[in-house]
Amino acid sequence: ASSHTDDNCIFCKIIKGDIPSFKLIETDAVYSFLDIGPIAPGHALVIPKYHAAKLHDLPDEHLGEILATLKKIAVAQGVENYNILQNNGRIAHQVVDHVHFHMIPKPSDSDEAG
Ligand code: 5GP
Ligand code: ZN
Repeated sequence: ASSHTDDNCIFCKIIKGDIPSFKLIETDAVYSFLDIGPIAPGHALVIPKYHAAKLHDLPDEHLGEILATLKKIAVAQGVENYNILQNNGRIAHQVVDHVHFHMIPKPSDSDEAG
């Protein structure tokens, strides 16, 4: 696993437990936790344990488990309305260079612009 982690990566540190997080689901290949700056209650992140900066750097074998975990979190939270978001590159608002998928619940009282 060491060949697929980056010692300077904040999300690799979260996977290792060197930085605390509110863990949701962990499997052999995937780690998920609450976003520290939620844009809605329950805003979660799902990341592969394999360090890859962007989606196109991540081997396909990790994709299925990521999507399955996003689904499990939505089901566990009981949310019917939500957005899955995945940013690549600064212009596209990627801040952390370790592939991550956002699961963002859409509260029923939120307006369309929110
Ligand atoms: P991006 O803009 O790169 O798609 O999203 C990065 C996300 O990671 C942001 O929503 C931000 O709040 C979250 N984040 C950044 N650092 C930490 C951290 O140390 N812990 C947690 N739980 N979330 C983080
Ligand atoms: Zn990383």
